Amino acid sequence: MKVALLPEGLRSRLQQRVEEASGQNVLACYQCGKCSAGCPVAGVMDLLPNQVIRLVQLGLVEEALTSQTIWYCAACLTCAARCPKGVDLPRVMEALRELAMERSGDHLPPDRLPAEALAEWPQQAVIGGFRKYTW
Ligand code: SF4
Ligand code: SF4
Repeated sequence: MKVALLPEGLRSRLQQRVEEASGQNVLACYQCGKCSAGCPVAGVMDLLPNQVIRLVQLGLVEEALTSQTIWYCAACLTCAARCPKGVDLPRVMEALRELAMERSGDHLPPDRLPAEALAEWPQQAVIGGFRKYTW
């Protein structure tokens, strides 16, 4: 039996868009914190991964969109592997990045990258960065 924590009418359009884009049911998260405990980038994040998903659960998607955490997430999948509820948090992070760039454009415009750095950085990292930081 499916238990609705929030009636559909009370769920914001932004919440629904995050769930649609990520394919994840964010309400499945019960805030155990295992994702944050295993995240290798948690030390530099302004919000822990479980806090980001909590914001989405509460309909505070705007706050999640302004967090640096969505950009620091390295999509390493550690949290997804640890989550006892099967929440694929990297997909939620990706959906939030897409939403943020849909509004504000590229997070890191390619023309702002120094040519010398582009010549030195590993190609795979550059291509991966374009996928993550450009719209
Ligand atoms: S590990 Fe899963 S259930 Fe636990 S806080 Fe993170 S997303 Fe939520
Ligand atoms: S996918 Fe992102 S949020 Fe999850 S453990 Fe890796 S860096 Fe942290």
